[in-house]
Amino acid sequence: MPTAVETEITPYVLNHFIAGKTVTPNSGDYLDKLDPRSGERIARVASGDETDVNAAVQAAAAAFTEWRDRRPMDRAKVMLEMARAIRKHVKLLAEIESRENGTPASQTPAGLETAARYFDFYAGLVNVNHGETLNVGAGYHAYTRREPFGVVGIITPWNVPLNQAARASAPALAAGNTVVVKPSEETSAATVEFARIATEECGLPPGVFNVVLGAGRHAGSALVSHPLVRKVAFTGSVRAGKEIGHIAAERVIPLTLELGGKSPHIVFEDADLDKAAANAANIFTRNCGQICSSGTRLLVQDSVHDAFVEKLVREVQKISVGPEASASVGPLATKAQYEKVQSYYQVAKEEGAIAAIGGELPGEERLKKGWFVSPTVYTGVHNDMRIAREEIFGPVMGVIRFKDEADAVRIANDSEYGLAAGLWTREVSRALRVAALLEAGQVYINEYQTGAMIETPFGGYKMSGYGREKGVEAMHCYTQVKCVTVKL
Ligand code: NAD
Repeated sequence: MPTAVETEITPYVLNHFIAGKTVTPNSGDYLDKLDPRSGERIARVASGDETDVNAAVQAAAAAFTEWRDRRPMDRAKVMLEMARAIRKHVKLLAEIESRENGTPASQTPAGLETAARYFDFYAGLVNVNHGETLNVGAGYHAYTRREPFGVVGIITPWNVPLNQAARASAPALAAGNTVVVKPSEETSAATVEFARIATEECGLPPGVFNVVLGAGRHAGSALVSHPLVRKVAFTGSVRAGKEIGHIAAERVIPLTLELGGKSPHIVFEDADLDKAAANAANIFTRNCGQICSSGTRLLVQDSVHDAFVEKLVREVQKISVGPEASASVGPLATKAQYEKVQSYYQVAKEEGAIAAIGGELPGEERLKKGWFVSPTVYTGVHNDMRIAREEIFGPVMGVIRFKDEADAVRIANDSEYGLAAGLWTREVSRALRVAALLEAGQVYINEYQTGAMIETPFGGYKMSGYGREKGVEAMHCYTQVKCVTVKL
């Protein structure tokens, strides 16, 4: 079968995938996709409108009843095939993703392996997605059913595209919903190609997994507004999350919102400083800092501050930046993001932060063509500075001093976000005490998020969103509970 993405041709053309077929945009219009490594145009992406979205949603609605009514094990069989197919086509999918989001090609297979595991994991959960029998006394029999919503709209960002699409679609499909995915216009290719593979090779019925492409404010809002879309899962910025939230409120449909973060990573004086420094350096630069749950506010206890910063800078110096597959860090994914990160170098300077490393664009000639930036650590950062309050979404971290445990918790929680938090200490009681006090959807103790676990629920407190992805929790977010009561 020909692939949906002909990367041999530049610019390659990306179209919608609806009801098992490639579909050109109703408007005939395409958006330009630029190469993060060179700034040159590499793809033309279908610019979806209401007509395209309607076709995709109608296809998903038509496929719903048959998919819902299958024995759960039969849905699981297809999903296990989808996991297998991601592994089988990992080379192609990794190449496509890396090309579009700039992540070094050596790193993309790990994200795709996680995408495959979502399908494995939720295939394994199909039979525990059941209701309960309720004790209501003699004379009645009452029970609950966990039922799918119908068509679920899924909108994903550009940082780890297929991983995000899999994270939301696997539990949705396992629960018996059908889906329409609107990937970021910056990174559409892997999702389109996966939809084709799933339909043509895995026995996924046409219409169960559709992909509609285009800009957020056109295709994205049309999807959220469509009357047959009964639930939306959105991952992206707070700005877009709020806009979607307004539409969903008007329509009274449930939402999962996975938004941004400015997560605290706390190092107490009794921590293993070497391990903490290596972990902190790795986490804030991973995927060129384009990870929502990055630990970008590094809170370090006064007594070990200078020693720790020294170790941290040594770790950051080991990080290589470049277009090569083997580089630790590639370019930022979009020009807008490149400009945004640079604007924060200026903000930091004006606020009086000190660049312990980075703080300007890399000097090497070979890094001037694409959207490469330097891993940057600022010291002298206070929690009221913009660089400590606003999500930058690039490899920029601020070090903030704290005096004691209460001070650390106060600073950590003094943020409008609450996505993740990490802490390093050898004292078990303190670790558990502080973990309970942190306002964040996930807390990592003595290793900030190095294991990509799909079993652990993930989501935000405060402005980082609501609803949960991953784990059993996510399956529940894609079902609605019906209670049936029988008079005996
Ligand atoms: P974005 O909000 O600009 O776009 C995300 C998606 O939403 C894209 O598909 C876009 O086309 C679409 N979109 C944009 N405006 C829309 C609108 N008004 N209506 C409907 N759809 C719309 O975000 P981005 O720049 O692609 O991604 C970066 C952001 O995503 C960061 O804030 C990051 O923290 C967040 N993020 C969160 C998580 C998480 O799990 N919490 C994971 C990854 C990224």
